[in-house]
Amino acid sequence: MSNISAILEQSSFSQSDLEQLLKCDGDEKRLLFKKSGEVKDLFVGNKVYFRGLIEFSNVCEKDCYYCGIRNSNHAVRRYNLTDSEILDAARFADDNRFGSVVLQSGENSSPAFADRITSLVSQIKQLSNGKLGITLSVGEQSESVYRRWFEAGAHRYLLRIETSNQSLYHKIHPDDQHHDFNRRLECLQALKATGYQTGTGVIIGLPFQTISDLAHDLLFFQESGIDMVGMGPYIGHSDTPLYAFRDELLPIQERFDLSLKMIAVLRIMMNDINIAAATALQAIDPLGREKGIKVGANIIMPNITPGLYRNDYSLYENKPCIDEEPAQCKGCLDARIALADGEIGYGEWGDSKHFLKKK
Ligand code: SAH
Ligand code: SF4
Repeated sequence: MSNISAILEQSSFSQSDLEQLLKCDGDEKRLLFKKSGEVKDLFVGNKVYFRGLIEFSNVCEKDCYYCGIRNSNHAVRRYNLTDSEILDAARFADDNRFGSVVLQSGENSSPAFADRITSLVSQIKQLSNGKLGITLSVGEQSESVYRRWFEAGAHRYLLRIETSNQSLYHKIHPDDQHHDFNRRLECLQALKATGYQTGTGVIIGLPFQTISDLAHDLLFFQESGIDMVGMGPYIGHSDTPLYAFRDELLPIQERFDLSLKMIAVLRIMMNDINIAAATALQAIDPLGREKGIKVGANIIMPNITPGLYRNDYSLYENKPCIDEEPAQCKGCLDARIALADGEIGYGEWGDSKHFLKKK
């Protein structure tokens, strides 16, 4: 028996087991993917749930070194959807039985922004008769703001830790109080304490990142008892500081492959959480998200931002589907999920089984 198949028999993995799993290739990699597919079938089934993604504004106060819409990038045309454009997108999701929407944007800590999100959440609940689940992904906020949004009806929140290695975190962010690793951790705690289904994640294949960092990320997810994970490959953007290190990166195909292995290993470790197949997978491989589903992911976030603005929410280059309208997107996804042997959970929230069990 190979070392990998022996590790896959274990009921828990050490840091060194995880590093070996993340390095495996060829037949061993096929073994890993076979196992993660089986674990997925057994614990979460073959249903894939949609979260209609509304990227409602690319205005951001922060300056993450990897991100194309960082505040200091003056080449970006900034936009902010109107409330009625956002509500129309939510109505589209409801009419097409998407089950849930995600409101995502750059970070904004103003009281006016907090008020606006509260009102949007209530209005989305109202227009869908409470049917649409709402996930927020709008960065670090105070505990009281998180609570207000939760009380208005948002029930999931995504806040990626980006990397669980504090010193790497500080290499990929400016060294100031607005980009503080511990504050990000505190926000994750606050989200959990408020009652959200809490999601986090990392970027895979960042400059300076090692396999050992990624193994540590997996242990971090497990130790923090998170309900959902969204993680995907790092993709460079020429208007960002990290672009200077583009020659030191893993080749893009390896970053993609590593992302699939991260999903597969995480599915085995945390068998009943929700795992999203990140859109960044598709920026590398046209069938990237489907491959993510096959090896363990069960969530897809179809972009339902009005087509006019999609080009400007350029976190990274080569972002897929930026020239499509939401309706085209849906037909395309039906076919894609079938290809990955999945079935779409239309009209269902598809909450994290891990979260429901805790309750
Ligand atoms: N502003 C919010 C949400 C929008 S950014 C926040 O930062 O939490 C959403 C995610 O995009 C980030 O968490 C980051 O992980 C990802 N992202 C940004 N730039 C990226 C890049 N160049 N490659 C891959 N993912 C990136
Ligand atoms: Fe802003 Fe999020 Fe991009 Fe950081 S990752 S610059 S917080 S949009």
